[in-house]
Amino acid sequence: MNNIDQKSTLLQWKMVQLWMLAILVLLLLVLSIGVMAKAEGKSTRSSASEWFKVADNTYVFRYKFYYTMFVNTTKGVIAFDPLSNNAAEDYAKAIREAVPEAKLNSIVYTHWHTDHSTGANVLRREFGKDIPILAHANTLARLKRLKDSDVPLPTKVVSNDGMTIADKKNPIELKYLGHAHTNSMLIAFLPKQKLVFGVDFVNHDSMGWRDLPGVDVDNLITMQKKLLELDFETITFGHGRPGGRDVVKRQIAYYEALVDETSKAINKGMSEDQAAEVITLERYKDWANYDYWFTLNVRGVYRFVKEKSANKGT
Ligand SMILES: [Zn+2]
Repeated sequence: MNNIDQKSTLLQWKMVQLWMLAILVLLLLVLSIGVMAKAEGKSTRSSASEWFKVADNTYVFRYKFYYTMFVNTTKGVIAFDPLSNNAAEDYAKAIREAVPEAKLNSIVYTHWHTDHSTGANVLRREFGKDIPILAHANTLARLKRLKDSDVPLPTKVVSNDGMTIADKKNPIELKYLGHAHTNSMLIAFLPKQKLVFGVDFVNHDSMGWRDLPGVDVDNLITMQKKLLELDFETITFGHGRPGGRDVVKRQIAYYEALVDETSKAINKGMSEDQAAEVITLERYKDWANYDYWFTLNVRGVYRFVKEKSANKGT
């Protein structure tokens, strides 16, 4: 081997060493990101989902813009709305990550709407085919008519009187607060954790859905006020990150302002189109979906107020 050959072999060896070092650094980086994600409670299996602890034994699971909750009790895990078949695949993994060796005690549907209630087949496949499903009696009635094989029927119904589940030391009170959004709404109240879980009739700084189809706005506000009567500090939602009592107060103030402004417009003799054009509530401009749904919210409330006064014969 001459001098030039020796030099080029040395150079090649140095290049190989450099490549090995680069690969090692990259490998360490990937591993550390994985560890960090795990420590924060983020599901590493799908970027669409995450889970995190919100109170003692109580966890929030998010899939895209849907949220749900699961609670670890001495009787096993109680999982609320499974959301969808795809979401439930990640939901099952989240439950196992948060509560290793988890046994699923039961599934609870907060209401019949299938964008929250679908997915129990996946949880049953993962945790046991006979896992009970709890829901309001009106959810069972509605789902029976719907006959959707992706939404298995509740096996145990809850009446308007509610029901306490889990164990006496850490109870979960399922409550019916009234008819708004649907006539099948259950909320969960965890007195030990001072936490409530409310879906769709109350959201985190967000407009109501489109023109509030089928929503009795008076009942909606009454339900939100009934929530505030419960002794809680944290609220978790079907949409939006968890918050405190102030979030519920803001929702009430928003709907009351909508009713106020719309009633004023009606009293001035404005049509629905005029009211939708004139009414703005600047202080809610930063809320989710303001640009898309605020005008529709005005229209929904306009029709509700108008219909109510027509029914009164005024
Ligand atoms: Zn709903």
